[in-house]
This record gives sequence, structure tokens and C-alpha cells, in this order.
Amino acid sequence: MNKLKLPIWEKALSRAAHAKKRVSEIHKKAKTMLTAFIKPWAGKTKSWISAKAKPVKPYAGKIKAWVSAGLSNIKLTHVGLKQLGILFMLVVFLATGWVGNSDVAASGEVFATTMQAYKVILKGQAAGYVCNQESANIIMDEVLQDAAENYGMEVTLEDKLSFEPVVIAPEKLSTKEELESSFRRLSDINVNAYVIYADGEKLGTLKSEEDARNLLDSIKDNYADDASGLEEVTFKEKVEIVETPVEFHEVQDIESVEAKIREGQETVEEYTVKEGDTFWSISKAFDIDHDELLRLNPDMDPEKLKPGQNICLSYPKSLLNVVTTEVIEYEAPVPFETETREDSSMFKNESKVIQEGKEGLKLVEARLIKVNGIEQDKEVISEKVIKEPVKKIVVKGTKTPVSRGSGKLIWPARGRLTSRYGRRWGRLHKGIDIANSRGTPVYAADSGKVISTGYNGGYGNLVKIDHGGGMVTYYAHLSKIVVSSGSSVSKGQLIGYMGSTGRSTGPHLHFEVRINGSPRNPISYLP
Ligand SMILES: [Zn+2]
Repeated sequence: MNKLKLPIWEKALSRAAHAKKRVSEIHKKAKTMLTAFIKPWAGKTKSWISAKAKPVKPYAGKIKAWVSAGLSNIKLTHVGLKQLGILFMLVVFLATGWVGNSDVAASGEVFATTMQAYKVILKGQAAGYVCNQESANIIMDEVLQDAAENYGMEVTLEDKLSFEPVVIAPEKLSTKEELESSFRRLSDINVNAYVIYADGEKLGTLKSEEDARNLLDSIKDNYADDASGLEEVTFKEKVEIVETPVEFHEVQDIESVEAKIREGQETVEEYTVKEGDTFWSISKAFDIDHDELLRLNPDMDPEKLKPGQNICLSYPKSLLNVVTTEVIEYEAPVPFETETREDSSMFKNESKVIQEGKEGLKLVEARLIKVNGIEQDKEVISEKVIKEPVKKIVVKGTKTPVSRGSGKLIWPARGRLTSRYGRRWGRLHKGIDIANSRGTPVYAADSGKVISTGYNGGYGNLVKIDHGGGMVTYYAHLSKIVVSSGSSVSKGQLIGYMGSTGRSTGPHLHFEVRINGSPRNPISYLP
């Protein structure tokens, strides 16, 4: 038979357990003996025990120290004072010779190649081997207490330990560390955690309800702190905190849950502007409402898109969205109205601004709703005009120009008739010359359509008007032309001013009348 040593931790525990058992046996035996045979000497025996015990008392402190040393690698508190007391009593019995020749309890040693032990079973699996069931229970308590301390949470164990007597080789006995590690591995230690849900979606699992609330507040504060007219901060989603028993490893720290939520809130789809892109083309390409795109990019001028700029295409699609409602005040321009007045003395195609418009200014109070800091909706509460706008007044002519002439011409300018139609120095003078000072107004001789304006060789600045029916009139040597080609003119309408451009010897109007391209004597058509 080999001399074996028990693991020191279990030895200490088994000492306590054996002692307890032995004491109760002895107690029982003693009681029986006393009752049956020794009753008459009961008093004497008792005093004899006391006498024998007395010399041992001075060593009580030493024994206690010895026990402490034996238990040094386990927690003394688990042994408890009661067990210490029993141990002490046992030592007293040994010392007084009541129990002789003790094996395990006294020396902590066994003589065996195999031994009686217990298989520790947790969740149907072997967690280790101990001599003593109590040792396993104490270790389990320790593991639970460690867990509770680590997490600062209450813990519960779903399955209790069970034991099965076995005969094993002593070296199969578990060490304290082995037992601890298999308990940690096998045990379903549940903690009471708090799960945050947003619209039924799990956001995170936290240690306490307070942690969960603090996290939600911090998420709100992220979008609430810089708004002065803040009315309300809420979540778009229905948020719940539900107490849930979970496994250790499922509990998350506040920082990682917060980071996950924030990441979702800040992740947006973006598009980089390319050459030739406009807000319209982008909104079409991505099938986003044009106004929505403007709202998503409040700081951008849609008229000034530059290649390389990033455009936001969507609101962040987060599981948790912060809705802030704030009341803001701002100044906004008040547009001016345009009033149009009619004037029958002016032709239809003529208009004149007689008063320029000026924008006014108003003070707007509005309720602004933002989601994760991005403007979503604006509701105007009140508007106060602080500067009235000035309306723009435009006068428009109503006189209809007639593009077809009456055939009856009027004199196109005042002045002296200095040259008539016909042959002159061997050449045909195709019109008449009316002389006056430079700048004298020149009028259309009849209604019609201006078909040509501009410089034309010897004619200088020339206007041609088609009166319909094949008749065209020419106005030459003008200093300035005030009608444009293609426009309709009425009889008597100003078309330019007398001058001396082209082949001319002084300011005069050279006036021609042509029928189907051939010059005729204008005098025949004039009154
Ligand atoms: Zn002439």
C-alpha cells in the first residue's frame, strides 16, 4: 500500500467534514454508552474529560494557526467558524486519547492504490473528482461569487451539482484550479441584464437598468446639447428596456453599444459629383425626390455643384433615431409683387419699368424637426414683416402694330426737300432727299415690318420696311436706328434719327419707295 497525500485544499476541507462526521458518531456512541452502562459515572467521566482537556487549552491558538496554514489556499470564510470549532474539538479528542489510531482525519494521509471518491456532475457532464462533496460545493460557491463580483450583478445557477460515488486512482482527483475551470466552463451562470429594444430590434444588453437609461440619455444628448430653442427630444422608435436573464458573455459594455448605435446614425449614402451633374440629374439617377435631396444637403447651393463634392443621398438608416423638435427664429426676404399697367400710347411689344421692386424682410418663427441632426420638417408658427417690400411697376403698351400698310404714306421726316426723284447728273436718283439738322426724328411712312437694319454701302445706316402688297420703303444715312429687324412698326412710329452716314454731303434723309423691287417716285405716294 502506497502512502498518498490528498490535495492540500481538499485535505483541509475533508478534515473539517470528517471531523464533523466523527464528532457526531462519537457523540452518539457516548450517549448510548452513558445511557446503558456508564450513567452512574456520568458526572465523574465528564469531570475527567475536563481535566484531561485542560492542559490542551493553552495550545488552542497554535492549533488554530495550524488550521489556518492548512487552509491558506482556500478562503477561510468558507470553512466557517463552526467547522473550526469542530476541528478544535477533534484535536481535543485526539489529544485526550478518545480517538486513537485515526487515519485520514488526523494525518491527512491515506494508504491506497485506489480510493473512494465522488464524481462531480454538472449539466450531465463530469466536472471533476473530489474526496469530499463539500469541497465541490464550496468551489462552486466561489465561482458564483467571483462572477457576481466581476459583473457587479446578481447571479443564479440553473443546474445544481450532483455527485456519484466512484473508486478511482488518487491521482485522478481534481485540483482546485481544475475544478474551478470546469465549473466556469460548464455552468450556466445567468445574470439579470437589461436589454434595450427599439421597435422590437435588440440594440444591446447592459448590466443595469441605470446603464441602459444613461446610454439612451447620452444618445439623445448628442443631438440635443447645441439647440437653444429645444422643445422635445424623443426617439423615432418605440424604445423599451426589458429585464432579461442572460449568460455572462452576452452582457455588453456601455461604450460598445453606444458606438454601434452612433455608427448607424452617422452612416449615410453619399455620391461624389462628376462633371456635368446637376441636382436634377442626380435626383433622377438615384430616384430621390428633388426637394428631399435639397433637404438632405442644406448647406449646398444646387446652382454651384462642383465635381468632387460629396452629396448626401439618404438619411442614416439607424436602428435608433433621435428626433429633436426646436423652435427657431430667423429673418427671411419677402418677395415683391409686380404690377403691370397698360398704356394705349405704347405699342404691344413695348414695355417700361417705372418703379423697381425691392424685397422686404420678415421675422419667421418656426418649429424645426430634425432626425439625427438632419432637418426633416419645418413648420412655420408665425411670421412678422419687419420691412415691407416695394412693388415693381411695369407699363405695357396695348397698341397693336399693323404689319400691312394702308398704301397712304406720311412724310417720314420734317425738313426741306433738297433733291427729287429722277435723273440727276446722268444717274437715277432713286428717292427723295429731306434735309434737316442731325438728330431729327425719322418715322415709318406707313405700318409694316422692318426687314433690314444696319450699314449698307453708300446708304450708310439704312432701315427697310415692308408694307405688304409689294411696297418697301428705304430710310438712308441715319445717325441712329431704334428698331430692329423683324419687328412690326406702325405708321408714324419712330425708327431712327437723321444723319449723314454713307455717301452723303450733309445731314439729310434719303427716302425711297419701291414696288416689287423697282424704285418709284415717293412724291406720288405722299400727301
Ligand atoms: Zn438721296
